[in-house]
Amino acid sequence: MTDAKKEELQELQSLRLRLSEAEDALHAISSGEVDSLVITGPNGPRIFSLEDTNTPYRVLIEQMNEGALTLSPQGCVLYCNPRFAEMVQVPMDHVMGSSFHTYLAPSASAQGAALLQQVQVERCHAEVDALRSDQTLLPMRVSMNRLPSGSIGVVATDLSEARRKEATLRESEQRFRMMADSAPVLIWIAGVDALCFWFNKIWLEFTGRTMEQEMGNGWTDGVHPDDLQRCLEIYTDHFDQRRPFSIDYRLKRHDGEYRWLLDNGVPRFEADGQFAGFIGSCIDITERKLVQSKLELAANVFSHAREGIIITDASGTIVEVNETFCRISGYSRDEALGQNPRLVKSDRQSLAFYSAMWRSLLEKGHWYGELWNRRKNGAEYAVLITISAVRDATGATQNYVSLFSDITTIKDHAHQLEHIAHYDALTGLPNRVLLSDRLAQALLQCERSSQTLAVAYLDLDGFKLINDVYGHEMGDLLLVALAQRMKTVMREGDTLARMGGDEFAVVLVDLAPTMDCTPVLERLLQAASEPITIRNEILQVSVSIGVTHYPKDGGDTDLLLRHADQAMYAAKQAGRNRFLMFDLALDAAIQTQQQSLASIRRALAHNEFVLHYQPKVNMRTRKVIGVEALIRWQHPERGLLTPAAFLPIIEEDPLGVEVGEWVIATALAQMSEWHALGLDVAVSVNIGARQLQQVDFVPRLAMEMGNYPDISPHMLELEVLETSGLENLSTVASAMDACRAMGLSFALDDFGTGYSSLTYLKRLHAEVIKIDQSFIRDMLVDREDLSIVKGIIGLAAAFNRQVIAEGVETDAHGECLLALGCDLGQGYAIARPMSAAAFVLWNTSWGAAQRML
Ligand code: C2E
Ligand code: MG
Ligand code: MG
Repeated sequence: MTDAKKEELQELQSLRLRLSEAEDALHAISSGEVDSLVITGPNGPRIFSLEDTNTPYRVLIEQMNEGALTLSPQGCVLYCNPRFAEMVQVPMDHVMGSSFHTYLAPSASAQGAALLQQVQVERCHAEVDALRSDQTLLPMRVSMNRLPSGSIGVVATDLSEARRKEATLRESEQRFRMMADSAPVLIWIAGVDALCFWFNKIWLEFTGRTMEQEMGNGWTDGVHPDDLQRCLEIYTDHFDQRRPFSIDYRLKRHDGEYRWLLDNGVPRFEADGQFAGFIGSCIDITERKLVQSKLELAANVFSHAREGIIITDASGTIVEVNETFCRISGYSRDEALGQNPRLVKSDRQSLAFYSAMWRSLLEKGHWYGELWNRRKNGAEYAVLITISAVRDATGATQNYVSLFSDITTIKDHAHQLEHIAHYDALTGLPNRVLLSDRLAQALLQCERSSQTLAVAYLDLDGFKLINDVYGHEMGDLLLVALAQRMKTVMREGDTLARMGGDEFAVVLVDLAPTMDCTPVLERLLQAASEPITIRNEILQVSVSIGVTHYPKDGGDTDLLLRHADQAMYAAKQAGRNRFLMFDLALDAAIQTQQQSLASIRRALAHNEFVLHYQPKVNMRTRKVIGVEALIRWQHPERGLLTPAAFLPIIEEDPLGVEVGEWVIATALAQMSEWHALGLDVAVSVNIGARQLQQVDFVPRLAMEMGNYPDISPHMLELEVLETSGLENLSTVASAMDACRAMGLSFALDDFGTGYSSLTYLKRLHAEVIKIDQSFIRDMLVDREDLSIVKGIIGLAAAFNRQVIAEGVETDAHGECLLALGCDLGQGYAIARPMSAAAFVLWNTSWGAAQRML
C-alpha cells in the first residue's frame, strides 16, 4: 500500500469515528446549504466538496444512509451511491447513466420535471413518489442543488419507514379514539396549558354539549357551583405537580340533573418522556353516593340513636350493640359482643313471660312490650322494647334486632302521678277515687264470699269554726292529726279516705253477716272528739257519722256513699257527735219529697199557681170587709189543686218562702188592678211561720209594697197560722211590730187549734182572731164546740180584738154567730173562694141582693 493510500485510510478511520457528525455536515453540503466543508483530520484541516469524488468524501457518500445522486441538468444520473441503488432496488451500475425520471412514479414525473427546472434557479426540496424496480411505491424526500460544475446534486431520503410509522400512529390514534368513545366512561384530555382540548363521545352525550362548548374551560360551566372551586383547586394543584388525582364533583347532565362523577386524572407524557398534559376518566357515582349516604345515615342512626340497639345472630348471640345500649346497660361493646341478651335480664319476668315472647318472635317475627332489665351495677330499669327478626330472601331468620328505650323515669313519674291521682295530698289518705275503687272491689268480694260490708260517711262537727277562728293552716294541721288518729282505731283492711274538706269515708270490709260495726264506729267517734293540742292551742271537734250496710242496702258504690252521706246528714240533724244507720224507708219518703219539691219548683217557674179570693163580710150589715187570698195550683194534668195537696211539702223547705213571696206579690198586683177599676178591697194573705221568721222578711215585704204606691198598707192583712210552729216568738213579735208600723194588720188564723193559742194571743199583737172552722162546723150540734166559739168570742172582747168566723157553711151558722156577737164571717154560705174576675162579678151581685145571707 502506498503511503498516500495509508494516510487516506487513517484519515478515513478518524473520520468514521465521527461519522454521525460528518453525516449531518454532508447533508448540509449535499442539500446545498454549504458548498464545502472543512474537516480537521490528524493531518490538519481538509476541504471536501461534493464533486471531489476521489477524496475520502466519496467514501463518506458511499456509506451514507441517504441516497446521493449527481444529475446532468437534463436529469441523467452521473453518479449514484450504493444507498440509492438499494432504495430503488436497481444495481448501481444500471442506475448510472439512466434517467432520474425512470425512478419516479408516473404521477410524479411532472413534479420531477418541474424540480429539474426549478433547481436551475434555486435549491429546492420536495417529497416525491418514486418507484422501486418491483413497481412498489417508494416515498422519498429530495433535496436538490445546482453544483458549481453545473451538474445537480440530489440527496434522497427514504420516507417509507417514516410513513409506515405515521400510519401506525394514525391507526393507533384511531383505535384509541374508538376505544375512548365506546368506553362507558367520560374522558377528557388536556394539553400542557392545562386546558382541555378533547372530550370523548360519552362525555359529550352526557353533558349534551358540543366539543367546542366544552373545550378550554367550557366544561366547568356544567360543574355544580358548590363543587367548582374545590374541583379547580385540586385540578390545578395536581396539574402543576403532575401528580395523578381523584376528585368527585357534580356535573350537570343533559337533562339538567346533577350527577356525581368520580374523575381520575393522570399526567400524559410523550414517547420521549416529555410532559404533554393530563388525561382523565370519569364515572357516574351518583348511585354509589346514594347507597353510601344511606349506609352512612344508617350507621349514624345506629350509633347515635337515643334507643339502645342490640343485634344478635339467629342463635341469639350478640353481634353488635350501639353506644346507647352501653350507656343504659353499663356494659361496654366488647363485654356485650359474643354474649346472649340474657346478660341484661332481670328476675322480674317469669319464664312463661319469656316463652310467650319467643313464641311471638318465631311466629310473627316481632315482639313489642315492656321489660325490666338489669344494669351491670345490678340496678333494674324498665324498657319499652321492640324485637324484630331480620329474614333473608328465603325467609330464614338471620338476625334479631332489639330497639329499646329506658322508661324507668317515665315509670317513676307515672307512679307519682298515680299516687297524686289516688291519694289526698294533705293527709296522705286514699282519696275519693281510690275509695270508690276499693269499695267496688270490696263489693265484688262480698258477692263471692257472702259477707257484708259497711260504708260510713264522716263529717267533722264544728270544723268550720276552727278554720274561722284559728285560720286554715291550723285547720289543715287538725285534719292531718285527726286523720292519723282515726286511722289507728281502724282494723287493717278497712279503708279510711278523705273525700274533701272535713269529710271522710270509711269502708269496713269482711263483716260477718251478723257482725256489728258499732265498736269501730264508737272508736271513731271517740278518736275524733278527744281534744288535740296543736301549736299550743287545745282544739276539740266531733264527728257525725252516717252508715249503710251492704247487701241490705243493695246499691252500687255511688249509691252506698250517697246513702251514708244522707244518714250522716240525719246524724247532724239529730244533734251531731253520733252515728246513724241509713233507713231505706226514710229514704223512699225523702225521695218522693224531693221529686214533689222539684215539680213545685217547676210549677212556680211555669206560672202554674193562681190565687183565688174568698170574701169576708159583716153578716149583720152585709158589708164586704175584704177577701182572703187562697193559693191554687192549676196543675196541667191533675186540674186545680188546693193547698193541702202541695203546701205541706214545701212547708219546711226554702221553696215555701219563695211561694209565699209569690203570693204577696200576686195579691198586691191584684189589689192594684182592682184599685184601677175603682174597687178597693182589703186582702188578707196567709203567711207561713218559716216565712215570717226570715231575717229579711220585713225589708223584702217593704220593697215589694214599694212597687205599689197606689195601695194603702192598711188594705193588707197577714194571717198568721196559729198551728205553724213559731219557734222564736220574740223575733216574730218584733217583725209583726215592724209591719204594723208600716200600716199592715194581722190576724191569728185557725185560732183555738194550737196548744199555745193563749200565749200567742198575749205575745203577738194581732188585730183579728179567726175562729177555726172546725169549731164553727159542729157548733150547731156539738155543745163543746159551741162553748169554745163562745169562749173565743169572749176572749177577743176581753183582749180587745176583732173576731171573725171561718167555715160559715150555712145561713144557720151565720145566724148563730150573729146571736153570739160575732158579726164577721167567711164561708161557703157567703161565697166560695173564686177567681179574681169572678170576685168582681160576685161583688156587684152581692151588693144588689136583698137577703141578709
Ligand atoms: P185557712 O187560712 O183557714 O183558709 C180557709 C180554708 O177554709 C180555705 O181552704 C177555704 O177554702 C176553706 N173554707 C172556707 N169556707 C169554708 C166552708 O164554709 N166550709 C169548708 N169546709 N171550708 C171552707 P183552702 O183554700 O183549702 O186552704 C186551706 C189552708 O191552706 C188555709 O186555711 C191556709 O192555712 C192555707 N193556705 C191557703 N192559701 C195559702 C197561702 O197563700 N199561703 C199559705 N201560707 N197558706 C195558705
Ligand atoms: Mg187563712
Ligand atoms: Mg183558717
